[in-house]
Amino acid sequence: MKNSVKIGVVGVGHLGFHHAKHLSDIGEANLIGVFDADKTKANEVARQLNIKAFDSLNSLLDEVDAMSIVTPTSTHVDVAQICIENKCHVFIEKPIATTVEEADSIIQLAKKHNSIVQVGHIERFNPALLALSDLKIEPKYIEVHRMAPFMSRGTDVPVVLDLMIHDIDLVLSFISSPVEKIYANGVSIMTNSVDIANARIKFKNGSIANITSSRIAKDRVRKIKIFQQDLYVTIDFLAGISEVYKAMDASDNDPKAIMSAPLVRRDGKNRQIFYEKPAVKKKDALKMELKNFIQSVLGKEKPLVDGSAGKQALDVAIKIHDKILEGLK
Ligand code: NAD
Repeated sequence: MKNSVKIGVVGVGHLGFHHAKHLSDIGEANLIGVFDADKTKANEVARQLNIKAFDSLNSLLDEVDAMSIVTPTSTHVDVAQICIENKCHVFIEKPIATTVEEADSIIQLAKKHNSIVQVGHIERFNPALLALSDLKIEPKYIEVHRMAPFMSRGTDVPVVLDLMIHDIDLVLSFISSPVEKIYANGVSIMTNSVDIANARIKFKNGSIANITSSRIAKDRVRKIKIFQQDLYVTIDFLAGISEVYKAMDASDNDPKAIMSAPLVRRDGKNRQIFYEKPAVKKKDALKMELKNFIQSVLGKEKPLVDGSAGKQALDVAIKIHDKILEGLK
């Protein structure tokens, strides 16, 4: 069995640089080089990281077993297909593609060539979320806000595919029930596509998620509030803080209970509210997801977000976007 993976990065713009930087630092990854349609960018990144810039995707593919695809979303399907046809495992930045048909074609091709597909839904590796891994999350209601100042990067797709898809993926990972109904609206402000969006997703099991995303905000916000029976959880993905409030049966003077919250009786038992702020291990989420990919290629792990999860998030995102467009007619 191999103990390292020869890997390349295609697309070394804003995010691709960080992929290359982390891959050059992951022990079991052997970063062979980078390719970018913009030769100047590829040369600059190669110089900074002391690696090789390749003149074409094919020449890089000749030397690697895996590829990180960090090109604009509209190019993912074409680039992924070339990589997979060249027997490469692929890490594809989110969203996996621009249509469900494209996502399907990537997944089918990967199946045919035994290639691993991982999708860059980075929030799944956020240390503030991982700190809650011992909790049983079974939400009845989720409220999500994701806001970012305006930038031209990412505007090749609407805000739902650019930002909201992170939260759609998270919500789908929390609620294991089919989507029953979607209500959504939004507006275009700076670009020709939707820049601010709100979606209310109702699931067959009765759970509801309300997600708001804007790429025209003054400040950055990435917060989730999860409400379920006897449990309220908040996650601040940006600050890296999670907070947990649990209602539990308790003795009269349990010192761990929130003393400002009154002791009440339900079903003949005393109940109190308990607060916890789980310890969050400071780790770089991008590096952790790339490590998960490398370990998956080595056969030691499975991708936390595989092609099918990437496709499901895209499917819901497109349905939300279609609803928004209906409302704008
Ligand atoms: P960017 O515009 O900064 O970089 C894209 C690079 O790809 C550019 O250098 C461009 O020259 C190159 N390129 C374009 N077409 C190419 C092709 N066919 N072959 C080779 N190179 C090509 O974009 P970015 O912000 O780095 O985003 C890239 C991808 O990463 C997008 O899919 C975006 O959605 C995703 N992204 C994900 C996150 C996240 O949080 N996971 C954050 C930002 C971007």
